[in-house]
Amino acid sequence: MSSLLAKFGLTPVINASGSVTRLGGAPMPQAVVAAMSEMAAYTVPLDELQGVACRQIAVATRTEAGLVSAGAAAGLTLGAAAILAGWDRARMESLPDTDGFANEFIVAREQRSGYDHAVRAAGAKLVEVGFNDIVSGAGVRRTEVWEYEVAFSAATAGVLYVLSPESVPPLAEVVALAHAHGVPVLVDAAAELPPRSNLTEITSTGADLVVFSGGKSIRGPQSSGILAGRRDLIGSAFVQMMDLDEHPQLWSPPPGLVDQTALLGGPPRHGLGRGLKVAKETIIGLLTALELFESGQYDVEVGRQRMILDKIVEGLQGLPLSCQVEESLDGESSPLLEIALDERVLGRTAFQVCRALREGKPAIYPGHARLARGSLMIHPLHLDEDTAEALAQRIAEEVN
Ligand SMILES: *Cc1c(COP(=O)(O)O)cnc(C)c1O
Repeated sequence: MSSLLAKFGLTPVINASGSVTRLGGAPMPQAVVAAMSEMAAYTVPLDELQGVACRQIAVATRTEAGLVSAGAAAGLTLGAAAILAGWDRARMESLPDTDGFANEFIVAREQRSGYDHAVRAAGAKLVEVGFNDIVSGAGVRRTEVWEYEVAFSAATAGVLYVLSPESVPPLAEVVALAHAHGVPVLVDAAAELPPRSNLTEITSTGADLVVFSGGKSIRGPQSSGILAGRRDLIGSAFVQMMDLDEHPQLWSPPPGLVDQTALLGGPPRHGLGRGLKVAKETIIGLLTALELFESGQYDVEVGRQRMILDKIVEGLQGLPLSCQVEESLDGESSPLLEIALDERVLGRTAFQVCRALREGKPAIYPGHARLARGSLMIHPLHLDEDTAEALAQRIAEEVN
């Protein structure tokens, strides 16, 4: 085992969950690690680095501007802060206190999640529209455009839209409606890559700000994210995140990020996002990973991952369980393996088996999304031949 982990008394686990935050995100490609390590040896002003990031992200997402944030959740907080304050320094100073200005964000009730705390943290008040008929088992209807329409008022600051392949009404319709009311739309698309085309398709709806996670499929540093969109809003987010312990006479932010005519009186003080700072190594790591992601180089991994899953299925023959591979439909996403346990024959639940796997040797963390219906999920992103074999062997021991 690595002497580094030994020194700190740590033992690595086998991650069969994919890029989940609890286990440290996605594996960074060697080129990303090397870029971060190289960056550590130099000093470059952070403003300048974010100026470079701004251009690269703008090109990648076909937007006016972009920013590297400390994760997608941080991007949501910064995006909300930008929408709430704009270039108004007094507002920046008062956030998350929004007394005296519009602070409501409209969101579909069915799109609410634990992540919307990140938006509320900036001072936004969420105003729910629609119902959740399908999950409550009470009906068949989803959120409808008219329900958004009637929610706009003078107190509305923005719209929060959480994107998934199943989201309704379509983002483009919500954007058109919000713009008709003069209100920007903040899109949480944290986990909506791949497909690569989503880098530009989501922003092509006219959405004002879009966030992506940098530590998921982009495979950048776990604590990185992308905020992309309208130049004035990105600039406001930038100002509210950066260290502003600088003389106003000397402050010269990248012109692509901050239009200084908008902040004639000089910079505000440290803003709401000061705690969400991003290290120079993280910025370079994210930009390097974004290049790799865009190039399509990750696609060759899909075939290898498929073979890893086959190997696991092979190792699980003759046990009280059934294996089902969910193929990569777009050739970009990872294939997944569902292992449905026969809980009756086993006399144990999937939760119990999952716990035993986590606590065993080696410790194994299968995906936990379908435990309630008796299944372990295997995500191959972090697996190789050896860990796949160890995983199959441990599952076989547990269910024998
Ligand atoms: C993962 C995720 C986030 C948070 O992303 P981080 O980069 O970990 O901050 C936010 N929203 C959704 C929908 C996510 O799936």
